[in-house]
Amino acid sequence: MSSIFTKIINGEIPSYKIYEDDKTIAFLDINPETKGHVLVVPKLEVDKIYDLPDEDFDALMHTVKKLSIHMEKTLGKRTLWKVIGTDVPHAHVHLLPYDETWEHGRTLKLTPEEFEEIRQTLELK
Ligand code: AMP
Repeated sequence: MSSIFTKIINGEIPSYKIYEDDKTIAFLDINPETKGHVLVVPKLEVDKIYDLPDEDFDALMHTVKKLSIHMEKTLGKRTLWKVIGTDVPHAHVHLLPYDETWEHGRTLKLTPEEFEEIRQTLELK
């Protein structure tokens, strides 16, 4: 069965997408720890990040770097990287705009309008 992230990649379920290229996609985490919490996901579905073939791993990290720089410029905050992967068995990297109120594991409640506003702010075409 396809992972929830493959369903997002295939457009079967919605997401607040900010970036896509031929090998990767990035969208807002629906349980954000900070405003602008982004997930960067390889289109190739593998469980662990180190399961990726080198080409897909390199493409993933290229997108992680590019979006981190873009998010820092846009939000004026350092971008943290986090790799967990115990909830969704499809490799991904969390990008978190850092501020002093951030706590690992905390979840913010945002309205659809707030998600969409952040999505538009962070979108990279
Ligand atoms: P982990 O596997 O521990 O790195 O966590 C998976 C992350 O995926 C969690 O932060 C979830 O909030 C997030 N997540 C799960 N389903 C969705 C979804 N449909 N759209 C966006 N984020 C999701």
